[in-house]
Amino acid sequence: MKVVEHIEKSQGRTLCSVEILPPLKGQNIESTFRGLDPLIEFNLPFIDVTYHREEFEYTEYPDGRLEKRIVRKRPGTVGICAAIQNRYKIDAIPHVLCGSFNKEETENFLIDLGFLGIDNVMALRGDSLKNETYFVPERNGNRYATELVSQISDMNKGIYLDKELLDTAPTNFCIGVAGYPEKHMEAPSLESDIHFLKEKVRNGADYIITQMFFDNRKYFDFVDKCREEGITAPIIPGIKPIATKKQLNMIPLRFKVDLPDELVKMIVKAKNDDAVKQIGIEWCTEQCRELMKARVPVIHFYATGRTENVREVISRIQ
Ligand code: FAD
Repeated sequence: MKVVEHIEKSQGRTLCSVEILPPLKGQNIESTFRGLDPLIEFNLPFIDVTYHREEFEYTEYPDGRLEKRIVRKRPGTVGICAAIQNRYKIDAIPHVLCGSFNKEETENFLIDLGFLGIDNVMALRGDSLKNETYFVPERNGNRYATELVSQISDMNKGIYLDKELLDTAPTNFCIGVAGYPEKHMEAPSLESDIHFLKEKVRNGADYIITQMFFDNRKYFDFVDKCREEGITAPIIPGIKPIATKKQLNMIPLRFKVDLPDELVKMIVKAKNDDAVKQIGIEWCTEQCRELMKARVPVIHFYATGRTENVREVISRIQ
């Protein structure tokens, strides 16, 4: 079922969804199931599975030679999605990137997803590779999520890259895109970022999931601004319970979001990571309660490897 249909069916009740990462290469799918099993009782409408591009690794040899290798540390997005749908009968949503794909590869990837009975995709540009300052698209690849959304929308109309194909079967994907309450790191202003978000919706995106935020005011202001600009698609808040002291610096660095002073002070004072985990659960629960009061359609939890704290938060708010 499509995300927008899940929202419609819930009739104003806030749903809870999660986002997970595929396991590291060489690990078993059982680790994914172990993380998800305890969450299934909460009637998750959908589970997102992230996509991870290749990375460059360098090995330095004693004679000074430097070997550059291309590695994909977390392959398996499509396989995990198929396994989730098979095991739990829950809609799995693969993330689809512009990065590392040309348009032909994107088309073939989407054909596979359609054959697997996947109804939703999250269309993203992806970050630049570690050795690049700016994002570099593949030759004949999509440069921005706006273009990727257009390609998926075209396929939903039966328009494939090869215009000579006759009697094509249209795909039927519901399309999600990313939104940034604290603006995307490359955007010169929030206004400019919202302008392109609007273009993603105009090109066919059905719903928006936000980057994580720790201060609900940022989300509420962002939604107000989007509505003023005429964006009517559902804007699903993305939430993460903070769990370690290390994340105090890692989250702002990696995701370009701020942490409120009050939360920072509590974490700094915490004796150990067990205490931080409790603070994270309390903070996140309060965020969720306020979001539910504001009748958000879905709360989307960035679960990554830690589902036990997400489980605790969901059990407190349901
Ligand atoms: P875009 O929407 O293309 O925007 C990128 C930047 O370009 C923005 O600054 C925007 O303002 C600007 N822009 C957009 N369109 C245009 C245009 N036409 N002309 C000029 N400027 C433009 N990354 C992964 O690698 N894998 C994942 O699975 C993944 N999942 C994510 C899930 C969510 C909910 C979110 C919020 C992010 C996720 N990311 C993931 C990270 C994401 O790929 C990065 O944030 C990336 O840098 C931007 O992706 P985007 O789709 O928002 O890009």
